[in-house]
Amino acid sequence: MTPAALNKPSVTVVGAGIVGVCSTLWLQRAGFEVTLVDSGGVGEGASFGNAGNISPGAVVPYLIPGIWKEAPGWLLDPEGPLAVRPGYFLKALPWLMAAVRSAGEEAALRTSRAMHAIHSSTLDDYAELTRGTAAADLIELSGQLYVSEKPGSAQGSALAQRMRTEFGVEAVALDWMEVRELEPCLAPIFKSGLLLPKNGRTKNPHHLVTALADIAQRNGARVLRGKVDGFVTEGAAVKALIIDGQTQAAERVVIAAGAASRDLAAQLGSKLPLEAERGYHITISNPGVMPRMPVTNTDAKFACAPMNVGLRLAGTAEFGGLKAEPNWQRTEVLKRQAQRMFPGVNLESVSTWSGNRPSLPDGLPVLGAAPKFNNAWFAFGNSHFGMSAGPVMGKLAAQLVAGQRSSVDITPFRPERFK
Ligand SMILES: Cc1cc2nc3c(=O)[nH]c(=O)nc-3n(C[C@H](O)[C@H](O)[C@H](O)COP(=O)(O)OP(=O)(O)OC[C@H]3O[C@@H](n4cnc5c(N)ncnc54)[C@H](O)[C@@H]3O)c2cc1C
Repeated sequence: MTPAALNKPSVTVVGAGIVGVCSTLWLQRAGFEVTLVDSGGVGEGASFGNAGNISPGAVVPYLIPGIWKEAPGWLLDPEGPLAVRPGYFLKALPWLMAAVRSAGEEAALRTSRAMHAIHSSTLDDYAELTRGTAAADLIELSGQLYVSEKPGSAQGSALAQRMRTEFGVEAVALDWMEVRELEPCLAPIFKSGLLLPKNGRTKNPHHLVTALADIAQRNGARVLRGKVDGFVTEGAAVKALIIDGQTQAAERVVIAAGAASRDLAAQLGSKLPLEAERGYHITISNPGVMPRMPVTNTDAKFACAPMNVGLRLAGTAEFGGLKAEPNWQRTEVLKRQAQRMFPGVNLESVSTWSGNRPSLPDGLPVLGAAPKFNNAWFAFGNSHFGMSAGPVMGKLAAQLVAGQRSSVDITPFRPERFK
């Protein structure tokens, strides 16, 4: 450690997913010495295997009027996109009830506004964090395509369209012929499409997170492997972290542990309704077909993403608790979907993965000071949108730790909203 580093204020960031790694980079820029600690390898949580959509135009919440008409059908269909594990329903019920309340029109409009605030600058923020490094090549303004087998349906509801219009999200409605022209490898079953030309993608979310962590390490961050079991506190101050049974002094702490953040926040006196929303992917390494841009199937609710390691299909929202074993039958459903969407796809070489989205019932993350502590902050809960929100979450977390005015109004994200 250099003498200059010794004089810097220090922060420990718990969790090396996209949010923790971006927080580290922005904290370094704000003049902090950062230790990043993760119980696994860098980027091996939800950030490992997502669909890699980076969406400045993500302003339409999942919890939107109409979803609860469709949800019972999805739950009853063993191949449907939504599942609650038997035995977990009663545990999930309060979360589900709160989610129902968030899906009213007024609440959905508020959520939409807050989503816009933390998604709209994502590509610019990634560009800023990766400028002049190889990581920049992992991000692309590719456009994204939404497709449906029903005419006119890919655009979503009138409310969804209103949200896009309100926030100036460029969106081009396509008929079946235009969908075919844009992505000739798709089966001729799609009757409508929606092109979002200003959205992007990463070619590999895991490579991106590790490349960002490499930048942080080159800038002097210390990356530790170890599980944070708890904290040593004194009054309103966190004095140390307990990592794999060992005490490590900490001046400041940012909790960015994704779906596992609930227990850590609870230890700091904040009871938050964070649920693990399990998703799955298959990655087909020699598919023989490849869309030019990410394609989301809006009927079956999954994403198909061209990656530098093959064609990835990712989806499913399954509630069963953080510790439930994955149900790998879900990946068989994705294989069948791949065959339906991409005629002639070669499924000889397929890898599977599962990970937990950190999800709150109002569809928004938690970002703010830990209410009972003066040197701890929370940054987690980005659910389906963490790859898009990561750089902005990190920037805001760094502003809060540095005592600066946040560049975005963080009121909708405050942990106190769940009192
Ligand atoms: C199937 C699927 C598809 C998705 N597709 C997209 C998409 O296309 N676009 C998009 O924007 N988002 C997408 N997402 C969502 C996105 O992946 C997540 O929102 C995002 O990865 C969350 O990042 P995170 O840093 O908060 O959490 P994580 O990536 O889960 O990182 C948390 C880290 O904390 C560590 N940790 C946990 N507990 C402890 C502890 N006690 N001590 C130390 N370390 C700990 C974990 O090991 C982990 O590395 C998708 C998610 C899934 C599951």
